[in-house]
Amino acid sequence: MEYQGICHKMHAGLQDVSVTDQQTHKANVEYKFILDRTKIDLPFVLGQEIELEWSGNIYCVSCGQKTPKSYSQGHCFKCFKTKASCDMCIMKPETCHYHLGTCREEQFAQEVCFQPHIVYLANSSALKVGITRLGQMPTRWLDQGATQALPIMQVGSRRLSGQLEVMFGAEVADKTDWRKLLKGEAPPLDLITVRDQLLDDFAPQIAMIRDEFSMSLDFNEGLEILEHERPREFIYPVAAYPEKIKSHNLDKTPKIRGKLQGIKGQYLILDNGVINIRKYTGYELCIRSE
Ligand SMILES: [Zn+2]
Repeated sequence: MEYQGICHKMHAGLQDVSVTDQQTHKANVEYKFILDRTKIDLPFVLGQEIELEWSGNIYCVSCGQKTPKSYSQGHCFKCFKTKASCDMCIMKPETCHYHLGTCREEQFAQEVCFQPHIVYLANSSALKVGITRLGQMPTRWLDQGATQALPIMQVGSRRLSGQLEVMFGAEVADKTDWRKLLKGEAPPLDLITVRDQLLDDFAPQIAMIRDEFSMSLDFNEGLEILEHERPREFIYPVAAYPEKIKSHNLDKTPKIRGKLQGIKGQYLILDNGVINIRKYTGYELCIRSE
């Protein structure tokens, strides 16, 4: 089978959701390639040969113009410099500058930043803290390759969630070590115990942040501690993890081919290297499988 189109990050969905004894929600992760913003029905069969070929063209995911280089995951230089979605505050939500009147796009701010956000704990390469929009669960966790996740707080804005993430960052990492992620499964964590301990440790700071934000506009939905959330567990389709991590790079080698050993996060694990599909957002690809 062969499909051609503009690459977007893979769609990850949950299948066979079950609730275990400890009320943990457990599910298998299932992937689909997205070309031209449409799911394609190329089967991801472990053990099968798969081929990816880049035509040499990149199209901006925002304006559709051809661009010689991809900026900020699939944007042309102009969009990279002007779109709110490419601003630094997207990477560092605590630096949201809307309240200073310098936001790049009002509509983006309303649709994305002033929406309910979740602060969560996850186990990707190890324990991490992160934030996401309410509607982006579980996508965000699956994109990160987390095997466990637990929402711990809900707040009314991206900036507030970012402040809390930075606060927890004093004790918990906010990054995933992708090499570690692709070398095996992180040992399971008791996220409920970790949550209770963190909420205890940070109680004075949380009260301070709540006070500080209660005076500001982006406190519309407050700051709620999610005491009753149960952990989620995700099982990725991985038959074998590589011993040594070698990355494929389509910019250097436009055509790659290998046996599919697994998929985790936005990575395909082939028998001869791994490839981060999200990195090639906007690239015109041809995907073939037997
Ligand atoms: Zn553009």
